[in-house]
Amino acid sequence: MPTHLTVRGLVIRETAYGEADKIIDLLTEQGIRTVRARSARKPGAKYAALTQLFAYGEYCLRQSGERFFLDSAVSLNLYFGLRSDLEALALASYFSELIRRTATDQPQPQLLRLFCYALHHLSEHDRPPMMVKAVFELRLLTELGLMPDMLCCKNCGEFLPARVLFRIEQADFVCADCSGAALPEDIEGTASVLQAVRHVIFSEYDRLFQFRLKNEALPQFAEYTEHFLLHQLGGTFHTLKFYRELTSGGKHSL
Ligand SMILES: [Zn+2]
Repeated sequence: MPTHLTVRGLVIRETAYGEADKIIDLLTEQGIRTVRARSARKPGAKYAALTQLFAYGEYCLRQSGERFFLDSAVSLNLYFGLRSDLEALALASYFSELIRRTATDQPQPQLLRLFCYALHHLSEHDRPPMMVKAVFELRLLTELGLMPDMLCCKNCGEFLPARVLFRIEQADFVCADCSGAALPEDIEGTASVLQAVRHVIFSEYDRLFQFRLKNEALPQFAEYTEHFLLHQLGGTFHTLKFYRELTSGGKHSL
């Protein structure tokens, strides 16, 4: 007997299947569900928009054995602002690769929440993309239990030094003045970068993106989160390479 369930989900991958079907990976609060959407590629298909990449909706699924089929869906947010902005789309694809690398089929409701908040800001263009990327990387690690120890300087116990050395290998920080020998991968930053890192680790979701970094502090923050994430997760991310190529050549739009 097939069973029915309704889930909130975000499409994080879509693949053409057969004549006119689609297979979509839905990130739900219960983990990733792979769903077959029959006839979703037919011209004028009812659920064409809701089965496209980065659509967020409420999906009614039919489960038959290990398989899920799409019965119906209601839109919650299609993030239209993403779809004409190549840099935003490249970042969303990178987030998707990160999630597919780290999510399981176990309940991880915060991953869906984080992804939706990040897509909202990319779509609305109300935060610098570099900031959205950095917040996503650091908060993802936090949700996975891989966050750095940002309590105080590991040498002298100082809570908020003016200049900070973020240590990648040790996953902590020391004052730039009492650091001794820095490793090449370690990253220097100001006190405001340290405050931003603490904010992203500890903040409630509704305040997660509510901060500003001025001048050189934002690139320092972004450099730190990317280095730390790559160190923690290992491997390479093709979507990150694409994003770097895209942004090194200046701003693009479709
Ligand atoms: Zn110190």
